[in-house]
Amino acid sequence: MSALAKNYNRKNISFAKGKGSFLISNDGVKYLDFVQGIAVNSLGHSNKKLIKAINTQSKKLWHVSNAFKIPEGETLAKKLVKRTFADSVIFQNSGAEATEAAIKIARRYFFSIGKPNKNRIICIKNSFHGRTLAAIYASGSKKMTEGFGPKIPGFDHFNFGDHKKLKRLINKNTAAIMIETVMGEGGIKVIPNWCIKAIRKLCNQKKILLILDEVQCGIGRSGKFFAFEYAKVKPDIVPIAKGIGGGFPVGAVLMTRKVAKAMVPGTHGSTFGGNPLAMAVGNAVLNQINYTLLNNVNKMSKYFILNLNILKKKYPKIIKEIRGVGLLIGLQLFKDQTNVIRILPPLNVKKSEIDLALKIIHKVCNELNKNETFY
Ligand SMILES: *Cc1c(COP(=O)(O)O)cnc(C)c1O
Repeated sequence: MSALAKNYNRKNISFAKGKGSFLISNDGVKYLDFVQGIAVNSLGHSNKKLIKAINTQSKKLWHVSNAFKIPEGETLAKKLVKRTFADSVIFQNSGAEATEAAIKIARRYFFSIGKPNKNRIICIKNSFHGRTLAAIYASGSKKMTEGFGPKIPGFDHFNFGDHKKLKRLINKNTAAIMIETVMGEGGIKVIPNWCIKAIRKLCNQKKILLILDEVQCGIGRSGKFFAFEYAKVKPDIVPIAKGIGGGFPVGAVLMTRKVAKAMVPGTHGSTFGGNPLAMAVGNAVLNQINYTLLNNVNKMSKYFILNLNILKKKYPKIIKEIRGVGLLIGLQLFKDQTNVIRILPPLNVKKSEIDLALKIIHKVCNELNKNETFY
């Protein structure tokens, strides 16, 4: 009997080691890993430069308090600012912490300009921003919030695509619109560029902030550093996590100078957030998210999606739709349509590994096709 609580529906497999796109289970079976810790191991397993970075830093210094300067964090923040819309960064340890900090920053900004009643955040119904209390109520998901009341107030919801409702929801108490640029947990729903642009325009008109949650789709996963770059917009606040640590827990909130001004000493903090060990790994990840890697994401994505669509044509009764951007790909089957298969290879995936994945998916479709009861 496991001493772990039952809050996860775990598969009966455990792993001994990993290398690149592959995992070896404790009973010796080799698996192609196109989950990568849910978009976390952006550079695959056992990346040499990440191993070196963590080993080197672990011999020097693991942790000091944020009461002191942390040069490794200064460096990582500078790099993030240089590559993005942002002027300022606060480091956290996870995605949920980063989205919660984003909510706090939006509210504190309006407080700091004498508008404390502008504190409501508009979100998409059944989105995903993490599992902490505010984050589950931000998601507007019945399943995630059930039994965790009282409800955390301050969030308003519209259905994906319901722009009329979105416009109606904005009132004098609205502080921000917070959406995932690509809805990951919600089944890889890519928000179209024209829509992101229109939402930015709406935020400008109503003088409210735009928070784009790039915890899953950010840091190169989309084929650009941030997925919102496709829409050519500048958000005000962007929480990140998953990919930036390459497997080490790192989160962050990126923001413009305008909102960062509100975050004066004492307004926010984290004991672990941005410690030297995490920052050393973050720097080693970011150094590898270069033009060549993004080029690989785009090339591999094109090849993968093209061939998945060929499989869709071959098995029109099994595969309903292939969608996604970069290496954030969703495969929707006709059966159990709310359950989209997410495919998340490492960003440095090789063509031969995608060929292997296609072969496996082809084989599964072929088996299902023989089994008439499947559809
Ligand atoms: C995973 C995820 C989060 C939460 O991240 P945790 O590290 O699990 O807290 C938040 N937002 C999005 C879009 C995510 O995909």
